[in-house]
Amino acid sequence: MSGWRDNIREVTPYTPGEQPKISDVIKLNTNECPYGPSPKVKKVLDEMNYKRFRLYPDPNASKLVGAIAKYHGVSKEKVFVGVGSDDVLGMAFLTCFNSDKEILFPDITYSFYDVWADLFKISYKTIPLDEDFRIKKEDYFKENGGIVFPNPNAPTAVEMPLSDVEDIIAKNPNVVVIVDEAYVDFGGTSALKLIDKYDNLLVVRTYSKSRAMAGMRIGYAIGNEELISKLKAVKFSYNSYTMNMPSIEAGVAAIEDDDYFREIVGKIITTREKAKEELKKLGFSCTDTKANFLFASHKEIQASVIFEELKKRKIFVRYFNKPRIDNYLRITVGTDEEMKKLYEALEDIVNTCK
Ligand code: PMP
Repeated sequence: MSGWRDNIREVTPYTPGEQPKISDVIKLNTNECPYGPSPKVKKVLDEMNYKRFRLYPDPNASKLVGAIAKYHGVSKEKVFVGVGSDDVLGMAFLTCFNSDKEILFPDITYSFYDVWADLFKISYKTIPLDEDFRIKKEDYFKENGGIVFPNPNAPTAVEMPLSDVEDIIAKNPNVVVIVDEAYVDFGGTSALKLIDKYDNLLVVRTYSKSRAMAGMRIGYAIGNEELISKLKAVKFSYNSYTMNMPSIEAGVAAIEDDDYFREIVGKIITTREKAKEELKKLGFSCTDTKANFLFASHKEIQASVIFEELKKRKIFVRYFNKPRIDNYLRITVGTDEEMKKLYEALEDIVNTCK
């Protein structure tokens, strides 16, 4: 009866945060950067000759790989680029998690991990965070088919000390440990310095947050040459021309403008620290965030109620209706003006809803 349906791959896709169609919203729901990219990005895009687009882009994105390698002081052979870190992570799952053993990741984490695992038929086990939403390193000292976690974690924003990250890597020499550093630039400590020490470490980064370029879709991984060559082999077995020409050019310009990067990251950190205080005054408690977002819970009002009330006021934040975190809101750090409007709205909600 079902015919061809028996042969179809059934997956439950990842649900990205809402991209509202209406204008004049305050968008604090997908951890984008509230500031624009470096002005140097505008310059290279303005100067691009559109006639070049008739040609395929460089399948190796060599110029971008070179700029990223230079920025991090590593050889080009240690860098793999992709269409956002989602693409890089997907390729890394496909390449590195290829045993019959379960891969491990936290129960509360980036909700794409279980989606890739299901898509690629990788068995997995989620490990509960402790009551303070911390990853306990000892939980990862057991047999497994690979390990992945963000540091700082998402959506909790909590950072694991680098010494604990190193212990996990060191205790698991027979599997790849992927450290997803999407948010590390906002005050976290990177595992990149461990790359030469451990050949089972893959560090994944993105341009979407700290380089204000979510729309250009650029992500990358850094690891030892052999691991990167395996990743490339899988990528080139799937799709060669993934990085488009404007993204390659814009990606080079952005990573070369370190002053601008430091300026916007500094502004976001300052706004975030103020936001912690403001939210506290309004009766919220927040995790010790090292990311460009806050993970906040109100002592009296349900997160789902605040979420809906904010939406009515055209302020979008993220709410996850999931066990353990269903009374939390993930709030991206916006500009000071946006955050001021958020505090005003929250004050109103707190006064009317309690
Ligand atoms: N990792 C984590 C932890 C994230 O929160 C995100 C953003 N959704 C990503 C990776 C992917 O970001 P991008 O594909 O835009 O690089």
